[in-house]
Amino acid sequence: MMEKGSISVQTQNIFPIIKKFLYADHDIFLRELISNAVDASQKIKTLANKGVVKSEIGDLQIDIILDKEAKTLTISDRGIGMSEEEVKKYLNQVAFSSAEEFVEKYKADNTIIGHFGLGFYSAFMVSDEVEVISKSYRRNEKSVHWRCDGEPEYSIEYADKKSRGTDVILHINEESAEFLEESRIQSLLDKYCRFLPIPIKFGTKTETTYEGEGEDAKEVKTEVDNIINNPEPAWKKSPRSLKDEDYKSFYEELYPFSQAPLFWIHLNIDFPFNLTGILYFPKLSQNFEIQKNKIQLYSNQVYVTDDVKDIVPEFLTLMHGVIDSPDIPLNVSRSYLQSDHNVKKITSYITKKVAEKLQSLFKKDRESFESKWDEVAPIVKYGMITDEKFFDRARKFALLKNTEGKYFTIDEYVEQIKPNQTDKHDKVVMIYANQKDQQDTFVSAAKNRGYDVLLLDHVLDNHFIQHLEQKVDNTLFVRVDSDTTDNLIQTDETVESVLSEKDQEKVKALFEEVLKESKSSIQLKPLSQDDHPVMITKPEFMRRMQDMQRLQGGMGSMGMPDMHNLVVNTNHPLIVDKLLKMRSEDKKSDFIKYLYDLARLNQQMLSGSELTAFINRSLSFVS
Ligand code: ADP
Repeated sequence: MMEKGSISVQTQNIFPIIKKFLYADHDIFLRELISNAVDASQKIKTLANKGVVKSEIGDLQIDIILDKEAKTLTISDRGIGMSEEEVKKYLNQVAFSSAEEFVEKYKADNTIIGHFGLGFYSAFMVSDEVEVISKSYRRNEKSVHWRCDGEPEYSIEYADKKSRGTDVILHINEESAEFLEESRIQSLLDKYCRFLPIPIKFGTKTETTYEGEGEDAKEVKTEVDNIINNPEPAWKKSPRSLKDEDYKSFYEELYPFSQAPLFWIHLNIDFPFNLTGILYFPKLSQNFEIQKNKIQLYSNQVYVTDDVKDIVPEFLTLMHGVIDSPDIPLNVSRSYLQSDHNVKKITSYITKKVAEKLQSLFKKDRESFESKWDEVAPIVKYGMITDEKFFDRARKFALLKNTEGKYFTIDEYVEQIKPNQTDKHDKVVMIYANQKDQQDTFVSAAKNRGYDVLLLDHVLDNHFIQHLEQKVDNTLFVRVDSDTTDNLIQTDETVESVLSEKDQEKVKALFEEVLKESKSSIQLKPLSQDDHPVMITKPEFMRRMQDMQRLQGGMGSMGMPDMHNLVVNTNHPLIVDKLLKMRSEDKKSDFIKYLYDLARLNQQMLSGSELTAFINRSLSFVS
């Protein structure tokens, strides 16, 4: 038999369209063809299980064969195969017309490219000619040989293929010569086929083993099949059958050479949608960007994308792992995805699962939870800021850490500091440091007054603090070196002023005169003798604005005046006994400048020539 025909009349020009529209990601062809081969193999398995096929189905391994000389790439499977009728039906008409329909429908939407292949026809993106040789599992069907050179004309004839299955032979075109390189194919296989459920062979590899022991051991090299995939990835197994080690080694398989994950969540749901997967909490560093988009999306073990931002809530894109769902519509555009009902449900399911897992870890073993908190915190805080539902769930286990390294839930903390840190407006004031070492003086001053100081030093904490202020009633955050800490101090029993009012006036006048060039606003305060004589504090509001500006990429305090307060402790002996008793105006002036420099040094405000001058002056005292 030899028959020629023309593929679906209304689609004369389908090939140029396919080539044009899929050009952006033409390597998808391999995934599509191998997926078809896997489907055909799964179908024969199903038929065997149901007893429709009674004979032994044998080994189902799929072979990828590269022939550089002949310029062909062959995908060979031992699946159900196709009869003549089926070849005609599937390869000639149905797929073509649906392809056309698809292209028509989505012409305007470029975003689909790369998320979708045109199934079998994507082969034409890289081939001058495609041959299909197939033998159906039905014994009485003859094997057939179909060819098509990219024009709508095809030919079909009987072939003498004896074994069940399908060979798809691609005659790779000139522009696509890259697909005749072994390394290129290997990397495509690694990308798309790593966890396909049927073993896939690509050539052979040399395996080295040792025979004998110790020094007598002999190296033995053997050629073995190069199987490129793991057909039974951990996420497809039952959680009960897996040990911690299995989860860790699967993580290693996904991200070789990375640090072990903190913990993981095995997702497994059948209803109302089907989804499996494992999400890992990685060890995070401050640099978010490099750790984003590590979650891989699969559909029945076929790799789809690592761009999961429409399926996984933004804050969870910091997690790693795999999600596999045949229910996520892959063949549609992004905008459709966002409004898809299933996708919405999946998103909220994942969020819920993550919250539940954290909650159960917290409940089961608080100590261990605390030991991991610092690394989990960015994800949780990110989630609390961006997802209201998650905030409500996380409020039960999100922790605050103080400068002594103790952890509290938000409610625990508020209860704990309430008696001592409620201000005159009845707000509970949480004092925090964001640079523990540099703010050491302020931290110890606050502690000396019996206050507790939190450590909130992550880039996200600025946002987190503002969010907590909105969400947790009657609370207020102030940085340990902010002027409002000072106001808080005033709610303390006031310390009696040692200086008379007249002397206070004198001190103020002196400071104002000497420091008239600085931008400081000078305040006198009768503080404890243990406090520093001169301190610089920054208005909390101004500081937050500056921080925000910096986060948004502004250069430091550009456009924002660098306002600060200079607090003079009028009870300090250096003021009471020393300054006021000095005779020479010059000496007074030097002394005030020196105290001012010390305060600036404490706030990292001295640099460059000012710092050098300060050090030189200090050296002259000791020499
Ligand atoms: P889809 O896979 O989305 O249905 P394709 O264009 O890739 O669309 O394939 C069309 C049909 O051709 C498949 O549904 C299948 O019935 C048949 N087919 C393709 N490849 C094979 C194969 N390797 N073995 C058996 N049947 C195949």
